[in-house]
Amino acid sequence: MNAPMIKSQDQINSSVFDHAEFDEHEQLAFFSDKKTGLKAIIAVHNSNLGPALGGCRMWNYATDEEALRDVLRLSKGMTYKSALANLKLGGGKSVIIGDPHKHKSEALLGAMGRFLERTGNRYIAAEDSGTSVADLKVMGRFTDNVAGITERVGINGLACNGDPSPATAYGTFVGLKAAVKRQYGHDDLKGLKVAIQGVGNVGYRLARYLKLAGAELFVSDIHQVQLQRAVEELDAQVIDQNDILSLDVDVLAPCALGASLNDQTIPLIKAKVIAGAANNQLASTEHDQMLLDSGILYAPDYVINAGGIIDIYYERVGHDYQRVKAHIETISDTLNEIFERSEQTDQPTGVVADRLAEERFLA
Ligand code: NAD
Repeated sequence: MNAPMIKSQDQINSSVFDHAEFDEHEQLAFFSDKKTGLKAIIAVHNSNLGPALGGCRMWNYATDEEALRDVLRLSKGMTYKSALANLKLGGGKSVIIGDPHKHKSEALLGAMGRFLERTGNRYIAAEDSGTSVADLKVMGRFTDNVAGITERVGINGLACNGDPSPATAYGTFVGLKAAVKRQYGHDDLKGLKVAIQGVGNVGYRLARYLKLAGAELFVSDIHQVQLQRAVEELDAQVIDQNDILSLDVDVLAPCALGASLNDQTIPLIKAKVIAGAANNQLASTEHDQMLLDSGILYAPDYVINAGGIIDIYYERVGHDYQRVKAHIETISDTLNEIFERSEQTDQPTGVVADRLAEERFLA
């Protein structure tokens, strides 16, 4: 057997407290359970505004360092998102290290539930990549610190199973309209050309709102069945996935993956508004400036896609779908404030959004 590696206190300090993504996190908790194989990390970035709420991600991280970086980065993002969504919530996230297709078991999820319970009500977990509502329900047998698992009336007044996508799509629609009004001077979407990259849970529902408002739809997806649904039900035109971002349209709505706005794609974009639900659309922070320089109005992703977290928040404080809907509609007020400040200061919208969030959670 190899000799165990013993790290000095200095090495430990430099790998966590001095970590590039640490950014004054309030709390980090590492948990392992030999019996079930659970290895997990909970990060609470900031709880000034309330308990930290954020997804519990299960991912086959290549190293513990990768998992640490991810949980730190994502929990910080949640602080900013909740602050700008006007929620009494802080930012947190958790990760389970392991392949969800191979290592997930009821026992492991139960151990995670007990871990959440021990962390107290400082962190509340929701579903994320690699975990489902059913998984969160298993954790919820051991703790109340899980969210997004109860059946309720969705924002359209119909029963829903806890899936936040309808609320996210509605918030994205509201935010898209605000961006269109800012850039084009009207929010009548009739005849407006909108390209949607990814017509999955959120993108398809966004497309439905847009269709009802009279927009002309262009869609791409890597799955034929998603495209077929958009064509048959919404009369959308299918565009090759390599051409969707550069299409000559009024609005581009990225609703698939992250980093779609980058050095290669931005110079080709013809739309003057970017308003979509995908997380982490900017490949890096300087792309925000590139968009501003190109005269493109960018609705920061974490502001426009906050409908889901608003919906989940109300599950904990008393769910009334009309209140939820009204709260989601405030996304347009927040975006208007960001657009206004961006114009006044000539700073990119993402930078302005970050400063506005900090004003709120550091106050
Ligand atoms: P989803 O998996 O249901 O939909 C994504 C769609 O994008 C799928 O149909 C997929 O086939 C397609 N896709 C993948 N790669 C593509 C490519 N290269 N080109 C075109 N299409 C591609 O996911 P979702 O729940 O609809 O989420 C969409 C985005 O919004 C994600 O970035 C997600 O992180 C973000 N988001 C979702 C929610 C929510 O409530 N679901 C909340 C906030 C943010």
